Amino acid sequence: MATIAIIGDGPGGLSAALFIARAGHHVTVYGADQTVMHYAFLNNYLGIDAISGTDFQTAARQQVLNAGAAISEENVTGVAITGGGVEVTTETGTTPADFLVLGEGKQMPLANSLGIQTTDGEDEIVPVDRNGKTAIDAVYVIGRSARPTRSQAIISAGDGAAAALDILSRIEGKDVQDWDSPPKE
Ligand SMILES: Cc1cc2nc3c(=O)[nH]c(=O)nc-3n(C[C@H](O)[C@H](O)[C@H](O)COP(=O)(O)OP(=O)(O)OC[C@H]3O[C@@H](n4cnc5c(N)ncnc54)[C@H](O)[C@@H]3O)c2cc1C
Repeated sequence: MATIAIIGDGPGGLSAALFIARAGHHVTVYGADQTVMHYAFLNNYLGIDAISGTDFQTAARQQVLNAGAAISEENVTGVAITGGGVEVTTETGTTPADFLVLGEGKQMPLANSLGIQTTDGEDEIVPVDRNGKTAIDAVYVIGRSARPTRSQAIISAGDGAAAALDILSRIEGKDVQDWDSPPKE
């Protein structure tokens, strides 16, 4: 079983956590529900007619907990690359992980502390591949952090899902998809 640390509890981080928890790995999402989603009212999230950002976050956090993820309300003060993966530091200590997903939102001091720099330009972006993987093998950047000028809840959720499937595929050594079918009558 792998250990994955996710920093950021917006739609990006929670979506990544959902997929990883459903696969049975140990995952902790860090965040105290301070996301800007609380200022949003979603009329553009496919499959949902209309929902306040706060109601969306409440449902998403519960869904992630139900899937087996842990949510820590601690603020992450530092991250570091180690020989075997990463380390996440909070006020109460340092925890190792195999993979790190950064969904910090608009500001990204932790990504910057690892030397992951924003590319300036018309479409300001963080250099990641289409799964959110950075040049640092164990580190992903997703959501608003990866697309500061094109931030939508559904894009962050998709980014989180793509990063999670990439991590799961690397763990399994083959492509992974999380498909369910309706229960049989
Ligand atoms: C006024 C307003 C209205 C909006 N309306 C819409 C809308 O109608 N439709 C739509 O699709 N989008 C809307 N958005 C955009 C939407 O809110 C964002 O796209 C979405 O929140 C991005 O999700 P994310 O997961 O990438 O990052 P965020 O939601 O920003 O989540 C990042 C989280 O990480 C946490 N965090 C960061 N650093 C740390 C750390 N070191 N330790 C612990 N936690 C940390 C933060 O506290 C935050 O909770 C709106 C935004 C605003 C501001």
